[in-house]
Amino acid sequence: MEKIRVGIGYDIHQLQSGRDLILGGVKIPFEKGLLGHSDADVLIHAIIDAILGSLAMRDIGTLFPDNDAKFKDISSVLLLEKVYALVKEQGWKIGNIDSNIIAQQPKMMPHIMQMRENLAKVLELDIEDISIKAKTNEKLDAVGELKAIEANSVVLMVKK
Ligand code: ZN
Repeated sequence: MEKIRVGIGYDIHQLQSGRDLILGGVKIPFEKGLLGHSDADVLIHAIIDAILGSLAMRDIGTLFPDNDAKFKDISSVLLLEKVYALVKEQGWKIGNIDSNIIAQQPKMMPHIMQMRENLAKVLELDIEDISIKAKTNEKLDAVGELKAIEANSVVLMVKK
C-alpha cells in the first residue's frame, strides 16, 4: 500500500476596510479585505497548515514568522509554492484537498473555479482534486457579523 498521511488546517482573519480581499489567490471585489502580515489569504493559509500538519512540519507561523519584514504583504500563493517545494523535496505529493471558506459576504461562488485553478497550478493537481466549499455563518458570531472570514482544510498526502 502507498504510504499516506492526512492533515488539517484552520485559519481566521479580521475583515477591515482599506485592505484587498484575496482568497485562493483571487482578488475579490468587496468593501473590506482581510487584515494580516501577508496578503491574509485565509484559504491558502488553512491549506498550508493542512499540508504542514500532515507531515508534522509545524505550522505556517513557524515557517513564515509575522515579525519578518520579508513576508510583509507577500502573496500567499508564493508561500504555498515554498511549502509545496519543501514537501515535494521529501518525496510527497498531494492526493486531494477539501476545504471550506466561511464568510457571510461576499458571494464566493463566482470565484471558486478560479481559486481551484490557481491552487491546481501551484500544486500540480487536477482541478477535480481540489474542493472548495463556501458557507455563510448564518449571521452568527464574528464571521456572521462581517468582522472575519474563516477557512478550514483537509489534505491527503501520498508518498511518491
Ligand atoms: Zn492566516
